[in-house]
Amino acid sequence: MDRDKILLTPGPLTTTLRTKLAMLKDWGSWDADFNAVTARVRSSLLAILHGADSHVVVPLQGSGTFSVEAAVATLVPHDGHVLVLDNGAYCKRAARLSTLMGRKVSSLTFDEAQPVDAALLESHLQKDRSVTHVVLIHCETGAGVLNPLQAVAAVCERLGVGLMVDAMSSFAALEIDARTTRFDALIAASGKCLEGVPGMGFVFIRKEVLAACEGRSQSLAMDLYDQYAYMEKTGQWRFTPPTHVVVALAEAIAQFEEEGGQAARLERYTRNCQTLVAGMRALGFKPFLDPAVQAPIIVTFHAPDLPGYDFKTFYAAVRARGFLLYPGKLTQIETFRVGCIGAIGPNEITQAVHAIELALRPGQPASRS
Ligand SMILES: *Cc1c(COP(=O)(O)O)cnc(C)c1O
Repeated sequence: MDRDKILLTPGPLTTTLRTKLAMLKDWGSWDADFNAVTARVRSSLLAILHGADSHVVVPLQGSGTFSVEAAVATLVPHDGHVLVLDNGAYCKRAARLSTLMGRKVSSLTFDEAQPVDAALLESHLQKDRSVTHVVLIHCETGAGVLNPLQAVAAVCERLGVGLMVDAMSSFAALEIDARTTRFDALIAASGKCLEGVPGMGFVFIRKEVLAACEGRSQSLAMDLYDQYAYMEKTGQWRFTPPTHVVVALAEAIAQFEEEGGQAARLERYTRNCQTLVAGMRALGFKPFLDPAVQAPIIVTFHAPDLPGYDFKTFYAAVRARGFLLYPGKLTQIETFRVGCIGAIGPNEITQAVHAIELALRPGQPASRS
């Protein structure tokens, strides 16, 4: 059947027709009409963070990881020391890219089923005074754990250490307030909880640290200081912008605001998550995380205890019924993940749970493909 499948993944995700339709137009990258869209997106992003007084926002072409890498290269001095609070796959990715950027990197490792611990961070930083920047993944999309941003930010502020937050899968859904939470950089992207399409990230940089970033990045294309300075001067992107992605994001942000902003989005995702967990439990599935540490973004489930279970076959059977699941990302045990984000509500989640039920029932071939 010629219908888009529902994406139960942490990006790309299901978008509205309105967002998709916004892409059916060509834009000149130097044109005033397009520059106005970029300016509008940037001021909306700062408003979501309550960061207009304290931060600037720098958009960057590419997937979210490009922006994390650009943030490290732009903010961390070459002789700096990055400490990654590691409780999952995206933390390990941040550590690896920081190493490849030539920075000294160490990790404080935690159980992937638990949030990172701000008190342990504090005692670690008191012992090791060489750390210049802490990297925190706000929602560790690997298992779905919510990490304590507020507490980690308080420790970093108290000890005078820079904080860089990967808020890729939490920004616009979970509350983040730059007026009360201090960080040097916070990174997110178009194709996550704002429900735009993938293709650009954006980095909020604290105004006080911006000046020192000039000339620091060893990359031309990923230098956020240059991107910022050029955009301020000309209103344009430094190199070819992902025009269709930007206008789709502007349209997605308009719908985000109409829905009621971050609080409304969190409420919808929370209902999605509750509907999902209740429905899956009724089918006998067990969530991997304790509900107390589960972010309402993506849920990891233990693979079903069935003879001959195989994720690829299971995935294909659910796909044939119109829903795309996500593989697990844990090292030790067999799991799969189901996203709660995107332009979907509890109805779609209920249908997805039903599709999963049918997919596991022997001798029930899907009628659609
Ligand atoms: C999605 C995501 C990213 C970026 O991944 P890309 O594949 O580069 O878009 C980074 N960190 C977290 C926590 C994410 O959820």
